[in-house]
Amino acid sequence: MENYIVSARKYRPITFKSVVGQQSVTVTLKNSIKNKHLAHAYLFAGPRGVGKTSCARIFAKTINCASRTEDFEACNECESCIAFNEGRSYNIHELDAASNNSVEDIRSLIEQVRIPPQIGSHSVYIIDEVHMLSSQAFNAFLKTLEEPPSYAVFVLATTEKHKIIPTILSRCQIFDFNRIKVEDAVEYLSFIAKKENITAEPEALNIIAQKADGAMRDALSFFDQIVSFSGEKITYQATIANLNVLDYDYYFRLTDMILENNISQTLLIFNEILNNGFDGHHFITGLSSHFRDLMVCKDPSTVELLEVGSSIKDKYLIQSKKCNIDFLLKVSEIGNQTDLAYRNSINKRLQVELALLKMCSSASEKKELIQNETNNLQLNKPNTNHAESNPNKDNISLPKNLPPVKKSGVSLNNIANTQIIEEENEAAVNYTKISEKETIDEIKLDASWKKFVEKLSSKPRLYNALKTSKLSQIDDFKYELLLANNSLEQTLENNKSKIIDFMKKELNNQFFDICFRVKELDETNPENLYTEKDKYKYLLNKNPNLDKLKNDFDLDFS
Ligand SMILES: [Zn+2]
Repeated sequence: MENYIVSARKYRPITFKSVVGQQSVTVTLKNSIKNKHLAHAYLFAGPRGVGKTSCARIFAKTINCASRTEDFEACNECESCIAFNEGRSYNIHELDAASNNSVEDIRSLIEQVRIPPQIGSHSVYIIDEVHMLSSQAFNAFLKTLEEPPSYAVFVLATTEKHKIIPTILSRCQIFDFNRIKVEDAVEYLSFIAKKENITAEPEALNIIAQKADGAMRDALSFFDQIVSFSGEKITYQATIANLNVLDYDYYFRLTDMILENNISQTLLIFNEILNNGFDGHHFITGLSSHFRDLMVCKDPSTVELLEVGSSIKDKYLIQSKKCNIDFLLKVSEIGNQTDLAYRNSINKRLQVELALLKMCSSASEKKELIQNETNNLQLNKPNTNHAESNPNKDNISLPKNLPPVKKSGVSLNNIANTQIIEEENEAAVNYTKISEKETIDEIKLDASWKKFVEKLSSKPRLYNALKTSKLSQIDDFKYELLLANNSLEQTLENNKSKIIDFMKKELNNQFFDICFRVKELDETNPENLYTEKDKYKYLLNKNPNLDKLKNDFDLDFS
């Protein structure tokens, strides 16, 4: 790899044909040369790194070429072309308005415009980032643009067309440059790789192109960066590591877990991503793009909007079959909202985690709807195995039978309930198959519950309230927990699905269920007395003389 020349420079296009991804622009420019319809001023507008300056240079070279090809390309052999390619042509003048935007800069350019070209037919003046010119400079330039000498051609380039004043716009022929499509960039990168005897995995080039986000210049410099890092062999793994790109695989795994409403795995994968140094915002926007990509796979006519390599494409197609449109719309919306709220959020991690939980629950709502439909259809059919699922039948794969949970009234709006069903649903697929008749061992139950409570030791209030608690069985696999007050019940209710999830795993039993009940206040038990008045009443009961004492000394509650 010694003497390795930066690709962006080495493979700078030298003909219109070699400009990547800007066909409509290059064809039009070539036609104007062919028909001798040159304008005096052009405006090249478009994102950075897509070839605006390259096109301007090729254009300048081509109109000055002494022996253009049949295809109206520069010959790259005549004296003028060689001077252009070696960067010593007097027919081209470039001004970078980003750093030279004063009236003086423009005045010296205007001075140059007065001098006709010695060789060749045209002098081309390229003003890069033209929107950066000060308004005074703009005005000074306007006069030249209104009455240019016959040999002068101006090419103004900008990334921000809306900042160009209308008087300038109206004097220019405007060309809009596209951001370069991923597949075009990939094609060009593989062409370069081949020329440089570099073997590159197609997925690696795809990642480079995606990361460059439409800018060929960036794609080439990423390419160089990876070549200098990994030599003649560019792999997908090296590329994502080097460009700090989150592996597709995370998104696929995560979506699978969301579809299964596997909350714990979902949160763990997110944790893994954070541990690998990725930022939550980056992640959530990436996940949203993943959903978008799954969405375009739903319809054969939009599959082409998927800008990924062919091997990954199959993965998208397969996963998109598991998702239905409603689900994708919902999770995309959640992703989008999180993206918007992220910046202002104080607890950014929680913000993303909540989004993931919501996504999980929307997957379960969806499944439940379908499940209800199937239940209605199969009312009289005998039960089959729990563990079986039928992935081919529907968009979403469902276990054929659900464990008996419908005891409590399940409402679709009740997310907590929905999640419980989903948990078991998921469990029915993953847990060791056990018979419904089997019971939960009491010792194991106590130990598991203790283990759960121990996990709360960082939250003293909760921990103290639960450390002596015990579950009491109210049904085959359903347990009740008595609680001292409503706020405690609320807290646990909010975390019910997590609790159940934990217990199921501990017990290796997918049917475990729990409910909470607030103890009825036993006024004879001093432990349940909270207010001063209650305590007083309690004491009064024991000693009626207390009232006399209170009145005699005119005492009251503070
Ligand atoms: Zn030539």
